[in-house]
Amino acid sequence: MSSEVKSQSPNSNAEREEAMEVAEAARETTWTHPSFAAQLFSGSFRPDLLFPFPDQSPDDKKIGDEFLERLEAILREKVDPQEIDITGDLPADALDALIDLGCFGMKIPKEYGGLGLSQTNYNRACQLIASHCASTAVWISAHQSIGVPQPLKLFGTDEQKKKFLPRLAKGAVSAFALTEVGVGSDPARMQTFAEPTPDGKHYILNGEKLWCTNGVVADIIVVMARTPSIVVKGKERQQITALIIEKDMPGFEVVHRCDFMGIRAIQNGLLRFKDVKVPAENVIWGPGKGLKLALVTLNTGRLTVPAATTGGVKQCLKIARKWANERRQWGAPIGKHDAVAEKIAYIASHTFAMDAITWFTSGLADRGDADIRLEAAMAKLFCTEVNWTITDETLQIRAGRGFETSKSLGERGEDPVPIERMFRDTRINRIIEGTSEIMRLFIAREALDFHMQIAGPLLKRFQLLPAIKVGLTYMGWLPRQFNPFTLPPKHDDLAKGFGKHLRFIERTARKLARNTFYAMGRYQQKLEKRQQLLGRFVDIGVELFAMSAVIAYAKSKMSQNPDDDSAQKLADHFCKLARRRVKASFKAAWSNEDRANYKLAQEVLADEHVWLEEGVVTPEYLLEEVTSSTT
Ligand SMILES: Cc1cc2nc3c(=O)[nH]c(=O)nc-3n(C[C@H](O)[C@H](O)[C@H](O)COP(=O)(O)OP(=O)(O)OC[C@H]3O[C@@H](n4cnc5c(N)ncnc54)[C@H](O)[C@@H]3O)c2cc1C
Repeated sequence: MSSEVKSQSPNSNAEREEAMEVAEAARETTWTHPSFAAQLFSGSFRPDLLFPFPDQSPDDKKIGDEFLERLEAILREKVDPQEIDITGDLPADALDALIDLGCFGMKIPKEYGGLGLSQTNYNRACQLIASHCASTAVWISAHQSIGVPQPLKLFGTDEQKKKFLPRLAKGAVSAFALTEVGVGSDPARMQTFAEPTPDGKHYILNGEKLWCTNGVVADIIVVMARTPSIVVKGKERQQITALIIEKDMPGFEVVHRCDFMGIRAIQNGLLRFKDVKVPAENVIWGPGKGLKLALVTLNTGRLTVPAATTGGVKQCLKIARKWANERRQWGAPIGKHDAVAEKIAYIASHTFAMDAITWFTSGLADRGDADIRLEAAMAKLFCTEVNWTITDETLQIRAGRGFETSKSLGERGEDPVPIERMFRDTRINRIIEGTSEIMRLFIAREALDFHMQIAGPLLKRFQLLPAIKVGLTYMGWLPRQFNPFTLPPKHDDLAKGFGKHLRFIERTARKLARNTFYAMGRYQQKLEKRQQLLGRFVDIGVELFAMSAVIAYAKSKMSQNPDDDSAQKLADHFCKLARRRVKASFKAAWSNEDRANYKLAQEVLADEHVWLEEGVVTPEYLLEEVTSSTT
C-alpha cells in the first residue's frame, strides 16, 4: 500500500473537526417547531409533532391541481422521454413550453415574476415530471431546488433578488457549483479560491467545479469558493463564500460536458474559472457564509429527491401490477406465484411509505418554522434506497423485458415499457445531494446530539462539577428509558387501528435511546468511527420515522375516505415489514462481524488478497501502482 493512500485514511483530527463544523453549519436559527425524528433518538415519542398530518390546504391544493393539469399536457405533448434519452438533449420546444408555463419560476415568489408555489405544490410538479422523464426533472430541480433561486430567496439582498430572480423566473438557467475533482462528500476542503481585490470591490475567482448540473448551459451559477481565512480567538478559521457568476464573465469556461449512464439529457459539466472578476455585490449572505448557505440550501433542496423518486416508484407500481396480471407462466399469472407476490406487496406498501414521507416533509417545509434537517435527510435516505429496491424488483418482474430498452420493445410490437431506462436514470439518487453513507453520518450526528449536548465536553476533558451535573441529568433521563409501558395519550385514540404500531414506535424509541447511550459509554469518542454500528441505529430511527409518517398519512386518508380501507391495509403492511427490519437491526447491533469486516477490508486494501483478482483482463489504468489520488 502506498504511503499516499495510507496518509489519507483515516482523516486527521483537524479535517474531522472541520467536517463536524460543516454538519453543525446546516442548523438554521429560525426554527421553533422541533423535529419529531430528533425526539425519537432521545427516547421521546411526541405525537403532537406528528398529528395531524400536514395536509395541503384546499386553496393550495387547487392551485397545484390547476398547474399540474397544464404541466401534464405539456409533458405528454412535448416531452418524449425515450427520444430525450437517446439523443441526450432536451428539445428547445419542450424547454420553451416549460418556461412559458412558469416551470423555471415555480419556487420564485410572485413579486419577482415567479409562481410562488408552496413546497408541496413544487414537489407535486417535480413528482409528475420525474414520473415521465427524469432528465427533464433534473433540469428543473437543479435550477431551483439548489440553483440560484433557492439561496437567493433565503439569503439574498433585495437588490440581488430584484436583479436576478425575474430573469431566473423567465428561464435564465441556473446551477449550483460545490463539488470539485478533489472534494465530493467533504466540501470543506475545496480549492476554488476567490481573492478580494485591494479596493474590496471585486473577487478574483480561480478554480474548477465538477459535475455541475445545468452548468454547461447555465446563465447564472452560484459558486462556493474559499476566500481568505480569518483568525477567531487565535485560531485560523477557513472561509467559504457563495458568489453569483454569470456565463458571460470573462475567464469562465465550460471545459467538458459529462456523459452518464442515466439522466442522459442533463447538461452537467466541468467548469473552469480563470481570473474571473466577480463584483463584491454578487456575494450571497456575506463572506464566510458559503458553506452554511450550501448546507441550508440542501436542507430543503434535497426534499425534491423524495418527491421525484416517489414519482418513479408509482410508475413501477403501475408497471409491476399490469405485468404481474398479464404475464402467465407455469399455468398462472406470475403475480399468483408467491415469490412475485412478495415483491408486489413490498412495492405497494413501500410506495405508500414514500408517498407519506414525501408529503409529510413537504408539509413541514411549508410551515417555515420547522427543524427539517433530520426529516429531510431521512426522507432522502429512505426514499432513494427504497426506490432503488423497487426499481430493481420491477425490472426483475419484467425479467427479460425489463432488461430490453423501450425502443427495442416498441420496435418488435410490445408495449415500450421503459424500466431499463428508469433503472439507469434512478441510480444517481443514492449519490447526489449527499450519498447514502453521508446521509447516515449526518443523521448519526443528529442522533447523538442529545447526548453530545449533555456529555460532549466531558468526553473531551474530565471536570468534576460538569460531571456531577451530567450525572444528575442522566439520573432523571435514564430510568425513563427503561419504562416498559406506553404513556398517555392512548395510542388507539391517536390513530385507530394503529395502536400496536404506535406503542412499538414509542417503546422502540426508548430502546434506541438506551442503546445509543450504552454505545456512547462503551466507545466514547471512538463511537464516531463505528460507522457500521451507527448505521444500524440510524436505520432503526429511519424506520421508526417512516412508520410514524405512514400512520399519520393513513389516518389522514382514512378520515377523508372512511369507507375505504386501502390506506389502512398498506400502512399496516408497511409497519409489519418495518418492525421486522428494526428487530433484525437491533440483533445485528450487538452480534455482528463489524470488526472482522473492517480488518478484512484493510487487508484487501493492503493487497494481501490480490491473488483473487487473477484470471481477468486487467486494463492499463488498473495495473498502475496507486500513487496519487484526485485530492
Ligand atoms: C449526475 C451528477 C449530478 C451532480 N450534480 C451536482 C451539482 O449540481 N452540484 C454539485 O456541486 N455537485 C453535483 N454532483 C456531485 C455529487 O454531489 C457528488 O458526486 C457527491 O457529493 C459525492 O461525491 P463524490 O462522487 O466525489 O464521492 P466521494 O466523496 O469521493 O465518496 C466516494 C464514496 O465514499 C463514501 N464516503 C465518503 N466519505 C465518507 C465518510 N466519511 N464515511 C463513509 N463513507 C464515505 C461515499 O459515500 C461514496 O460511496 C453531481 C454528481 C453527479 C454524478
